[in-house]
Amino acid sequence: MFLKKIRADKQQHKKSNFRLRKSRDTHSNNNSSISNHTIILGKQQNICENNTSSQSNKNNFYYKINESINNNHDTSKNNKDSYHNFNEFNEDLVDDDFTEIYDTGEEFNNDIDENVNGNSDIYGEFNYIDEDFTENCDTNGEFNGREYDNNKKQNCYSGDAGPYFPNFTIFLLFLWVIKHQIGSEAYKDFANIVKHPKFNANDVPFSLATVKKYRNGLPLLPFKGYTVSLNNHNTPSTSKPTTQAFIFPLKNILCRILSNPQLHEHMYFGPGIYCENKQEIWHGVLWHKSPLFGTEHIKLNETIYNLGDFIKYYNIHTHNQLCYGRIISILHINDSHDICIRIENIIEYNSLPFQLKSQQRRNASYDGCLWMTDYTIIINPINIVSKVDIWLTDIDEPSNFQYFINEIVYCVNGQWSTRPIDLRHHHPVEYITTQNTPSNLPIYKFFLDIYIDKFGPFRNAYHGIGGIYLQIGNMPQILRQKLKNHFLIGFIPFSASCDEVLQPLINDIQDLEHGYELGINNQTVWVTGGLGVITSDLPEGNEQSGIKNHNAHYGCRNCMIHHNNLHDITFDIVKYARYHHITTSHFEDISNAKTQAEREILSTQYGIREKPSSFDSISRDRHIQCPHDAFHCIGGLAKEMLQSTFGILNSIGENEFLNVWRNFEYPSVWSRQQNPISHLNSYFFSDYLRLSMIMPFLINRSLISTSMLNRTIVEFLIEKSKFTKRQIIDQFLSLWASFSKMASLIFRKEFSEDDYNNLQQNIIHWSEKVGKFFPRITQLPNFHILCHFTMHARNFATLVNVAVPTKEMMHRLFKAMIPHSNKKNIEMDFVQRDNCLQTLRFLLDGGVDKRYDTERQLNFNMLSKDQCVRALLSSWYILPSKFDLEQDDDDTPLQITCIDENYINIKVQGLYTKHDLQTNNLEKNLDDNLFAELGRSYNEELDCTEHLTSRKVKYYKSISYTIVDGNNQSNIRLRVGDVINVLEDISDDREAEFKTITSYAQIRAIFLHTKDQLQIPFLLLNWFISLGINNSKLGCPRYRLQQLSDQTWRRIYAVKWIDHQPNNHFIHQCRKSGCENGNHDKTNVYYLHNIFYYTAI
Ligand SMILES: [Zn+2]
Ligand SMILES: [Zn+2]
Repeated sequence: MFLKKIRADKQQHKKSNFRLRKSRDTHSNNNSSISNHTIILGKQQNICENNTSSQSNKNNFYYKINESINNNHDTSKNNKDSYHNFNEFNEDLVDDDFTEIYDTGEEFNNDIDENVNGNSDIYGEFNYIDEDFTENCDTNGEFNGREYDNNKKQNCYSGDAGPYFPNFTIFLLFLWVIKHQIGSEAYKDFANIVKHPKFNANDVPFSLATVKKYRNGLPLLPFKGYTVSLNNHNTPSTSKPTTQAFIFPLKNILCRILSNPQLHEHMYFGPGIYCENKQEIWHGVLWHKSPLFGTEHIKLNETIYNLGDFIKYYNIHTHNQLCYGRIISILHINDSHDICIRIENIIEYNSLPFQLKSQQRRNASYDGCLWMTDYTIIINPINIVSKVDIWLTDIDEPSNFQYFINEIVYCVNGQWSTRPIDLRHHHPVEYITTQNTPSNLPIYKFFLDIYIDKFGPFRNAYHGIGGIYLQIGNMPQILRQKLKNHFLIGFIPFSASCDEVLQPLINDIQDLEHGYELGINNQTVWVTGGLGVITSDLPEGNEQSGIKNHNAHYGCRNCMIHHNNLHDITFDIVKYARYHHITTSHFEDISNAKTQAEREILSTQYGIREKPSSFDSISRDRHIQCPHDAFHCIGGLAKEMLQSTFGILNSIGENEFLNVWRNFEYPSVWSRQQNPISHLNSYFFSDYLRLSMIMPFLINRSLISTSMLNRTIVEFLIEKSKFTKRQIIDQFLSLWASFSKMASLIFRKEFSEDDYNNLQQNIIHWSEKVGKFFPRITQLPNFHILCHFTMHARNFATLVNVAVPTKEMMHRLFKAMIPHSNKKNIEMDFVQRDNCLQTLRFLLDGGVDKRYDTERQLNFNMLSKDQCVRALLSSWYILPSKFDLEQDDDDTPLQITCIDENYINIKVQGLYTKHDLQTNNLEKNLDDNLFAELGRSYNEELDCTEHLTSRKVKYYKSISYTIVDGNNQSNIRLRVGDVINVLEDISDDREAEFKTITSYAQIRAIFLHTKDQLQIPFLLLNWFISLGINNSKLGCPRYRLQQLSDQTWRRIYAVKWIDHQPNNHFIHQCRKSGCENGNHDKTNVYYLHNIFYYTAI
């Protein structure tokens, strides 16, 4: 029996045909499966660990606004002022930087979108209320003249707070809530606190300061203040010449991270891993190559082979021919103890491509000349024969060598070519000398990911301060995306020199490269490592790699393309790449120049700054370890694509587009967006990305003929791009399909070798198309940056690993603190607040405060088990990931259970009313067919064989639950209408090999069935049956949806099959008629799977 293909009328069932497995393209890091399940449900990578609904985000947002208003009340002396402040705050709402992703106290899941969603929802709320209301007034006369606040409600309480309030307590609370505009989250916490049995009113101090002073007793992390000079050009002349910059010592942060048991056990400090699906930083080329993180040498037959050594080996791909190569990395094969070696191919004259064979090269080969290639292969160490001495002629001549290399053979735009040997990225082993590590200590090699970004904490004046944050590349993707795992290093005060502030960090990283001992929980360990990557947005990244601004003549930090040629996708980015050692010599030229004018000329010519970034004094490749940010790049391009698209629509086109857009079947987790044509400029980056996930469908539905386009663009396309009138619409749709496809590939959370190649092909595909429609887009720096994405992706396994959106949210956290600070020393407030939060988090995660004995420590852990403490922490981003989730002692007499102890905290929401049942065509009592299916579900999935008596079920709109699997917990929330994905076993009984495909089903209903005092949740599914063909225009697979009346495939399943948050999007394949204004023709059962859909980060 296959999960999808269970015929309802057959009884045969073999449990063993179900397997729990991840679907390949929606794979998550978590390899563990829930063992007692036989079906394996595809695990989506972007599971929400803590699935907060947009609703709760909204509440939180209101709460924050209220808090800030509240604070303004505190600080301002009169009403006028606070009114002013409120306006200012509202202005903030439209500040792109501020509102893009606004969240403050919440767990961010792994899903920024969810948060962004919450915000845009709120944003929508602010703007839509009016719009909807006007709309209603226009179309619906009965709203006219309706009266509000009309004194019809009359309370007559008799107590001392009567007649308006039932008692004095409510009266006080009411005043307090109204005065300080208390939000619902804050109120909920307050109510929980005062209702706690241990709460004692006599212990409540009158002063807030008394409560706050207990912070100082916590095991805070010591940080240092450094005096830095201020650049007085930017500050009023009255201000001081110096200020203090506060920096956390790197050693202290690393020590705290290693001492945190919840982090320590999930971090990876081993050699580079070779695997098919690359997801983590240690799957990427950078980790593989660098001796700071990976393996430096391997011993084979008593010979030590180092990274960078040249070897002779038997090439099994060419019939065991003896070949030359260079050891690039020494890797462990995933899930085994086997070692493999990646080598760069070095070829002899005979292997040169035909076009490159010349008499001159032949003669050189007689003297011992070989050729290097960019081509790498993986070999088994046993195929290595011996070392061989080869001289790369761009470096000093060694004392003895057998061969030499002058040229690199490479392929550019399908043509073979050569470039001089010095046009190569030096292998890290050529510029990093690692220190001897003590053999008797456990070794931890840290991969540092430094994020630097400026932000304006104040709305009214530009007063940019720079945040410096640390992430640890040794953490898996899922941990790196949590806000609490962004560690604050310090701030660059307004108008202070970045280099000066960074100096203590630079010194700390140098110390780390050398390595040092640390005492971690009574054990001495050796800590080393170094800088892995600097992440940043475009301007900051150029600064940190020493390159001029991106608008300069040569403003790309990876190659020497001229600003006027940004559109040229055939540009040879290998030959004209920026190479670290070459840029270094350029910096030397500049520093040797005699006059300022000369320096400026050189600086313009090389496209570099006059002084290198201070990060140049640590071991790094400034061009490779400063990758471009995919989020800003693709978000920016999406915005351009949308703007240009709306620009070519005439009013007929706009109206039709908006009509389709308004009625579109959005993914259920999205909130409503603002009108894209009129409000595109107030969209956030994430909104641009979302809209582009559905643009191909919107265009397919709305754009029917060229009469919807501006005539000038039609003429332009016919004349310049040589389209026929007939082709224009199809070509335009194809442009969008390729853009959306490209974006979805760029944000993949894991990459196979094929995916890297697909990405590269898609980038080229879209680049070619966009030039025909919107040549202006091809002039943008973001357009050119795409050329470098495949390299960045390979270096860091994925592009999301080095993208900044989660990091940018750190700013939101700090910005949200401003209303609570006295604004005198913002940086100090920020640092202290962060320190307090991280210290609380450390203790909650089970970290040990060395100053106390363990028994006393235990006390703090016990406190966090308290219901009220848990409630306070639950919506806070410092919430421990492993939280003791004991089943709440609810008052409900009937317990909801999946009959599986790994499924806890099961909650249903939104009981269906009679009306709901009618509109959804559901019956309270299951009909014969469904009742029989329910019986089978009990029997086969839950091992309950007894006869069922009750046909009665209760329907709900959603269900949420937590799955505990070893140390991992995942929170799931399913809603009616969601499309789940399941890996279906399609292997034949006779075949030994196990085959699966991903199948999809729509949740038609969620219901509880009561049996033996237990309420058991089930799903009623409608399966999407694959037609095995793709839509020709969009390239999306086509499906037929099973109808409720169609009993071919079984529909009722136990909830426990769904072990991950579903995140799939299907779109109705509307015909020319039948679907109108969002009401889709139910008799048309054909759907498309949206392959452009993803979760941005
Ligand atoms: Zn470039
Ligand atoms: Zn339709």
